[in-house]
Amino acid sequence: MEIQVGQSVLELEEGDITRQDTEAIVNAANTSLLGGGGVDGAIHRAGGPKILEECRQLGGCPTGEARITTGGNLQARYVIHTVGPVYRDGLHREPELLASCYRESLKLATAKGIKTVAFPSISTGAYGYPLAAAARIALQTVKAYLAEHPEIERVRFVLFGRAAYAAYETALKGL
Ligand code: ADP
Repeated sequence: MEIQVGQSVLELEEGDITRQDTEAIVNAANTSLLGGGGVDGAIHRAGGPKILEECRQLGGCPTGEARITTGGNLQARYVIHTVGPVYRDGLHREPELLASCYRESLKLATAKGIKTVAFPSISTGAYGYPLAAAARIALQTVKAYLAEHPEIERVRFVLFGRAAYAAYETALKGL
């Protein structure tokens, strides 16, 4: 499924973030930036040791912020690493921190002249953010950014499995 936002396209796809042909892919990292499981593990496995080497130089990343490295052996030229909130009860700034991840990642893309970006569903794996709520925040935030930033031509959400895809599809229809 895809929608047009001003000059840009926002699309949903079921698949694997490491196999995307966008200029940048986004990693759901942790504050150390030194690798982990889930998307993070998959990206470092597929991209090779160069990415981790660059991450070491960055000295970590606070929750809600983003950093950028090259893509190593990936098809994508860049990896944008962002750190989602660990979900507790929704009353500990989780929504605003999650929105910040998407916004800060796209700001980095704009700053680097990157026109196409693929996101995974940040925080909805190990970090436990409820999928429906996370999908709504992700899509609202990206849509609002694209409406003001036509320089980003395409944002693709790459959802891992049917359930994640279905949650994002429902959220996108409800925007
Ligand atoms: P977090 O720690 O931010 O919750 P995870 O990597 O544990 O990050 O999970 C985030 C989401 O990414 C989950 O919905 C998970 O199913 C999904 N995911 C895991 N591997 C991949 C992959 N290779 N491509 C895209 N999404 C993935």
